[in-house]
Amino acid sequence: MDVKSELPEFRHNPSSGDWVIIATSRFKRPHFRIKRERRIIQPKKDCPFCPERIKEQLSPLACLSRKEENSFNFSWSEKKKGKICPDWKIIALPNKFPALMNKATKDRIKVKKKGVYQIVPGVGFHEVIVYRRHFKQLNQFSQRDLEEAISFWQQRFLVLEKEKNIRYISFFTNFGQEAGASLEHPHSQIIAAPIFDRDFERSLKSSFEHQKKFGGCVHCQMIKSSLKEKKRILLENKDFVALIPFAPTMDFETRIYPKKHQNRFQDISSQEIISFASVLKKILEMIKKKLKNPSFNFFIRTSPVVVGSDDYSYYHWHLVILPRVSIWGGFEFSAGMQIISIFPEQAASFLRGEK
Ligand SMILES: [Zn+2]
Ligand SMILES: [Zn+2]
Repeated sequence: MDVKSELPEFRHNPSSGDWVIIATSRFKRPHFRIKRERRIIQPKKDCPFCPERIKEQLSPLACLSRKEENSFNFSWSEKKKGKICPDWKIIALPNKFPALMNKATKDRIKVKKKGVYQIVPGVGFHEVIVYRRHFKQLNQFSQRDLEEAISFWQQRFLVLEKEKNIRYISFFTNFGQEAGASLEHPHSQIIAAPIFDRDFERSLKSSFEHQKKFGGCVHCQMIKSSLKEKKRILLENKDFVALIPFAPTMDFETRIYPKKHQNRFQDISSQEIISFASVLKKILEMIKKKLKNPSFNFFIRTSPVVVGSDDYSYYHWHLVILPRVSIWGGFEFSAGMQIISIFPEQAASFLRGEK
C-alpha cells in the first residue's frame, strides 16, 4: 500500500480521553507490512473443540441447535446444564484454564487492603463459546451463522448478568496467533468479573463526564460527525454503522455502532441482530480481503451490570475490531499513547477499496 506522507498529528479520542500520535513515516518500517496468510499449525485430529471431543464431562453450559429454518433452539435452563444438544451448532463450556474461578459467591465482595495494595477475590466466570466447524472461521461465516452467533452471545450475557457479584461482562474473540489465539478451532470467550478493567473504566468515565458537561452521548456525537464527514465510514445500513475512529488505538481499528442510542448490547432486538450480522459479515470480509487475512481481536464494549441505583444509560455499546497489522513497542506500553502509522481517513479509503 502506498501511504502518503503527511505531517504527524496528535489526535484526541473523546470517548476514552486518550491522545494518539499519527505518524505515517512509521508505515515504512520493515516490520510494518500487511501480512500474507498466517495459520496456527494444529492438526484437526487433536483439536479439543471438535464435536467428537466435546463430551458431557466438560459440563456444557448451554448449546444452540437449529431444528428448522427461522427458529433457534437454545438449551439454557439449569436443568439442561451439563447436557449436549444433538447437532449443536454453538456450545458454551467452562474454560479449562480459567482466568477466574467459574463460580459466584453470595457474599458481598469486599476489597481487601494490604498496605498500598488492594485485592479482590477472583470470583466470576470464564466461558468458551465454540462454533461447530473446525475449518469455518468467523470471517467465513454466512449471514445466518452470524445471526445465530450474536443471539448466542446475547443469551450468555442475559444468563451471566443474573449471577451475584458480576459487574462487567467482557466478550471477545481472538483469531490467529498474533491476536493471542492458542487454538485454531473457531471460538470466542466471555469473562464475567466482579470489577471493571482499567480501559473500560476510563471509557465509561469519559462518556459520563461528556454527558454531564455537554448533555449528550459522546458516541452518538462521534457517529453523527463521522456520518457527516463520511471519510472514515466503512459502511452502514438502517441500524448500524462501521467506521474507523478519528483517533484509533491501532492501525485499522474498526468499530461497529448501533445508530440509535442503546447502552446494553444484550437489549438488541431480533431485527437488529440481522442488521448487526450483516455489517459484521461485510467488515470481517473486508479486513480479510484487504489486509490479507490478518490475525485480529474483536470485542464488545457495553454497559456494566446494574447494581442498586447505578445508571449507565449514558453509555453506547459497540463492537471493536483490532486487526493485528502492527506491533506495539515500548513507547506504546510505557507512555500509554499509541503511534498510529496510517491516517484513519486513508485506512478507511483503503478498506473500502478506493485507489
Ligand atoms: Zn476443531
Ligand atoms: Zn449514544
